[in-house]
Amino acid sequence: MNPLRSLILAAAGNDAVRRLVSTAPVSRDVVRRFVAGENTEDAVAVAAALAGDGLAVTLDYLGEHTTDRELADRTVLAYLELLDRLHEAGLAASAEVSVKLSAVGQAFDQGLALANASRICAAAEQCGTTVTLDMEDHTTTDSTLGVLAELRRTWPSVGAVLQAYLRRTLGDCRDLAGTRVRLCKGAYAEPESVAHTEADEVDLNYVRCANVLLAGDGYPMFATHDPRLVAIIGERAKWYDRKPGSYEYQMLYGVRPDEQRRLAETGETMRVYVPYGGQWYGYLMRRLAERPANTTFFLRSLVGT
Ligand code: FAD
Repeated sequence: MNPLRSLILAAAGNDAVRRLVSTAPVSRDVVRRFVAGENTEDAVAVAAALAGDGLAVTLDYLGEHTTDRELADRTVLAYLELLDRLHEAGLAASAEVSVKLSAVGQAFDQGLALANASRICAAAEQCGTTVTLDMEDHTTTDSTLGVLAELRRTWPSVGAVLQAYLRRTLGDCRDLAGTRVRLCKGAYAEPESVAHTEADEVDLNYVRCANVLLAGDGYPMFATHDPRLVAIIGERAKWYDRKPGSYEYQMLYGVRPDEQRRLAETGETMRVYVPYGGQWYGYLMRRLAERPANTTFFLRSLVGT
């Protein structure tokens, strides 16, 4: 892995750095470039604007690694409020939600995480939409897939996320190919024992996994900004006789917005992942680690130049 990327990811997990960055007068613009805002109204406003441009969305209430029952409950309530507002705004057809199990109790009580995720899935169903379970670092993969299987007994449309950098993922794709699966490269710093660490190997595995998902009869969701992979997916989709609407592309809010609109204009389904909430730090650091060119812009804003 690129040394600067490793450094930024290490900083993301460091409490002292977290305190420094979170309390520094970070320019609103830097955060707003990748995060819809701090509250439900901000999230719904961004979802409405994107829907107006023909883009679907998945909304993520930011908060991870909760070790506190009350905080996990507050996260659930935030999702319930969001789902209500999306329904009221007539956005439920184009807006789903993404949930990190670590934000609803996975780190200390898997049963609680399942119960909390179930509350969100039930509310999503009532509002006419669905949920995708984000995937976090490799130590949580089995637990997350276990919770997913339980949720799917009642809500079969709950989406899974698989990360192409993990060596196990091709096998997981084969197991889940008949379902809704988001395929991404993977955003965490993982050891070589479990993950491909060379970019080319990750890309190659992404294409292998994409083939498996496109050949299956599920609904693949290709989450990447990589122009080469977007082009390959387009070609492979034709090869497997997939029509637009039987799969989708996904990109992050603020990343390649012109490309998002271009793909939507060609008739493809493009879903934008929109994070919001006060806990933006870990998310922002992962985005900076992916694109160290953005880091200079960010550091300048910290020191006010
Ligand atoms: P990269 O290898 O980062 O970049 C490849 C190329 O894409 C670059 O060379 C450049 O040409 C282009 N590009 C990338 N970023 C930019 C940019 N900022 N501006 C312009 N061009 C750019 N990860 C998880 O671990 N778990 C999840 O649940 C998860 N969910 C995700 C959901 C969505 C919708 C998306 C888009 C990503 C998600 N990720 C998740 C993050 C993902 O794993 C990657 O870390 C992230 O998408 C970067 O990988 P990439 O495919 O865009 O390619």
